Amino acid sequence: MKLLEDRIRKDGTIRGTEVLKVDRFLNHQMDIALINEIGKEFYRLFGDCGVNKILTIEASGIGIACITAQSFGVPVIFAKKNKTKNIAGDVYTSKVASFTHGKVYDIIVSKEFLGPDDRVLLIDDFLANGSALQGLINLVRDSGATLVGAGICVEKAFQPGGDLIRGMGVRVESLARVKCMDEATNTIEFCD
Ligand code: 5GP
Repeated sequence: MKLLEDRIRKDGTIRGTEVLKVDRFLNHQMDIALINEIGKEFYRLFGDCGVNKILTIEASGIGIACITAQSFGVPVIFAKKNKTKNIAGDVYTSKVASFTHGKVYDIIVSKEFLGPDDRVLLIDDFLANGSALQGLINLVRDSGATLVGAGICVEKAFQPGGDLIRGMGVRVESLARVKCMDEATNTIEFCD
């Protein structure tokens, strides 16, 4: 999606060779006009798949998922990062290794909101090593729902998550795929 690539070039900040900051427009300050276009693009890609729920993970996926859900006319569920040790039996749970904080945490979704009749689209801001998506995929599989695919704003294609998740047979659509980037030279290249 050229609009997103251009915005990343203009307002993104590269940290080393691994981390891209998009705080100016996507996951801290949020440019709603841009995210509206992102939501419409996800709808163009997945609009004919019978999606009836959008699932994301707190925190930075929530805003993007909500705006995307307006195009689909469906509810958003966000997996919560569980802070207590006791996980009640009425939730689906999975583990996620945080890319940005280096910790492993549990995510939960109430069984009330996901079940075998659902057709689920996953939405997230970034795909790096694939742990966040894998955690969400586990929740969907445990619930018996059908996984339609994953819509990602920025995939860092030089990290293993994209191959890993596609290798599981999941349809992944990323709107900007970063081939490589370097803070020292302030360069970023996107996949064709
Ligand atoms: P993964 O689980 O695929 O390794 O990482 C995905 C999650 O880590 C996303 O939900 C996102 O919040 C965060 N993340 C991964 N890479 C980056 C990055 O380069 N920049 C930012 N801002 N977040 C990232």
